[in-house]
Amino acid sequence: MPRSVLIRIDRMFDLKPEFLQSVSNLEALEHRLAEDLSLLEIPPKEWVPASEYEGARILDVVIIGAGMCGLVAAAALKMLGIHNIVCVDRAPKGLEGPWVTFARMETLRSPKQLTGPALGLPALTFRAWYVAQFGTNAWEQLGKIPKNQWMDYLIWYRKVFALPVRNLVSVMNIEPVHDDLLALNVIDSGSGKAETLYARHVVLATGRDGLGGSYVPEFVESVPRKFWAHSADDIDFDALREKRVAVVGAGASAMDNAATALEAGAAKVDMIIRRKDLPRINKFTGIASQGVVQGFAGLSDEWKWKFLEHTLGAQTPPPRDSTLRVSRHPNSRFLLGTAVRGMHEEPESVVLKTSCGDLEYDFVIFATGFRVDLDRRPELVKFAPFIRFWKDVFTPEPGMENGELASSPYLGADFEFLERVPGSCPSLRLVHCFNYQATLSHGKLSGDIPAVSDGGRRLARGIARSLFVADRETHFANLVAFETPELLGDEWTDAAAAIADLQRGAAE
Ligand SMILES: Cc1cc2nc3c(=O)[nH]c(=O)nc-3n(C[C@H](O)[C@H](O)[C@H](O)COP(=O)(O)OP(=O)(O)OC[C@H]3O[C@@H](n4cnc5c(N)ncnc54)[C@H](O)[C@@H]3O)c2cc1C
Repeated sequence: MPRSVLIRIDRMFDLKPEFLQSVSNLEALEHRLAEDLSLLEIPPKEWVPASEYEGARILDVVIIGAGMCGLVAAAALKMLGIHNIVCVDRAPKGLEGPWVTFARMETLRSPKQLTGPALGLPALTFRAWYVAQFGTNAWEQLGKIPKNQWMDYLIWYRKVFALPVRNLVSVMNIEPVHDDLLALNVIDSGSGKAETLYARHVVLATGRDGLGGSYVPEFVESVPRKFWAHSADDIDFDALREKRVAVVGAGASAMDNAATALEAGAAKVDMIIRRKDLPRINKFTGIASQGVVQGFAGLSDEWKWKFLEHTLGAQTPPPRDSTLRVSRHPNSRFLLGTAVRGMHEEPESVVLKTSCGDLEYDFVIFATGFRVDLDRRPELVKFAPFIRFWKDVFTPEPGMENGELASSPYLGADFEFLERVPGSCPSLRLVHCFNYQATLSHGKLSGDIPAVSDGGRRLARGIARSLFVADRETHFANLVAFETPELLGDEWTDAAAAIADLQRGAAE
C-alpha cells in the first residue's frame, strides 16, 4: 500500500507511528530487492521457444504445490529466464503447506538465521523481512521463528517475486500426450471448472505426503473416525476438553498435538511411545555443511543408504521446547516402552491394546508419520507402474534394511523420475520429484528449510538444460538466422597497398 494512502488511513483510524514505520521499512526493503535484482539482471529475458498443442499454449513447467518448495522452484526457474510457468495449489491463498493448518508447534525448529528460500539474495531472507518490520533489537531478542510468521514471510516472498500461483486448483491426474509432452487435468474449486494444462515438465512440490499419505497402523482404520485422527488431520481440539487423550508417537508432531490438546483443556494426555527412551540427538543437523548439501548426491548408492539408514535409525528427537510444552502439564504422562498392538471400540470410548496392557481413552491421535503409497495419489496413477524405487535397484547389507528408504524413488540428477524398466515410459523423465521423498537420492534439499535454495537451483538448472537440448534445432536455426552485425565494416581501412609493400620488401 502506498505510504500516502496509509497516512490518510492513519488519520481515520489512529494508527500507531511504529506500524507506519514498519510498512515504510518493508517498502524500502522491497525497493532494495528490486534494485539488487536489476543489478544482477534478474530475471533474464525469456529464451524458451513458444509452442502449442491443439491450439493451446504449452507451459514450459507446471509446478504442483505452492508451499515452500513450489515457490522456491518457481523463483529459481524465473531466475533462469524460464517464465512460461504456473504453480498450482489446491489450498486457498495463504494456507499452503502445514504452517497455519496442521503444524501445531509454536515456533519453527530451525534456527532463525537460516537463509532458506532466499536463493542467495540478502534482501529476500527472513531476517531482512523481519528486521524491516520489527527492527534489529527485536531480531536479536527473537528466539525461534513463530510458525505463523514463517507463513507471512512465504506470502511476502511470493508477492515480491511476482510468482505465477493459481490457488484452489487441484491436479487430478497427469498423463503423457507423447514422449515430450504431458497433460494435466485440473479442477479449479473456485470456479468449479475442469481444465487441461499442457506442460513440457512437471514438478511435484507436493510436500511430505507427496507420494502417498499419512500413515496409521492397519488395525486403526476399522475404528470409527470420531475416536481417532492422524496428527496431520484437521482436529477439533475444543472437543477434547475434559477428555482422556492418547497420542501415539514421540516425534515433533506428537509433542505439538499433545500440547495443543492439553492447552485446550484435555483431562489427561498420555504419550504412547514404543521406545524405552526418547532419541536425544538430531543426527543430520549435526553434520550440516555445504559439503553435505553439495556432496551427498555424489555418493555411491551404498554410502547414501549408509548415511540415511543411520539417521533414520537414530530417529529425530522432538524439539526441547515442544517436549517441555507437554511435560509442564501435570496431567501429561510419557509412557515409554509401550508398543501399541491393537485398538477397539467400546460404547463411549476406545481401548488401545499395548505391550503394557489395555488403556482406555476418549480420543487417540496417531502421530505416526507418512508413507509412500502411490495408490493414494490419483495424479500419479498413469506413471506409478513405471517409477523406479530404491528397492528395485539396491539391496542393503543384512542388518541395514529400511522400509522407508526402500520405498524412496530412485531419482536422476535433476530430481526426475527414472524408469524401472528402461524404455517403458520415456515421458517419466519430464516429472520431477521435488519433495521430501527425494532425500535418499539428493540429500535434504527438497523438504526442509536449510538447503531448499540449493535444491531449487539444482532443479531449475536441470530443467533449463533439458529444455535447451530438446529445442536444439530451433536454437541452431536461430543461430544461423542471427544476422545483427557487431562490426559495420567502417571500423578499418583497406590495408591491401600496405600488405603489397610488405610482400615486396620480403622478396628483395
Ligand atoms: C508440522 C511440520 C513442521 C515442520 N517444521 C519444520 C521446521 O521447523 N524446519 C524445517 O526446516 N522444516 C520443517 N518442516 C518440514 C518442511 O519444511 C515442511 O514440510 C515444508 O512445508 C515443506 O514444503 P513443501 O513445499 O515441500 O510442502 P508443503 O508446504 O506441504 O506444500 C505442498 C503443497 O502441495 C499442495 N498439493 C499437494 N498435492 C496437490 C495436488 N494434487 N494439486 C494441487 N496442490 C497440491 C498442497 O496443498 C500443499 O500446499 C515441518 C513439517 C511439518 C509437517
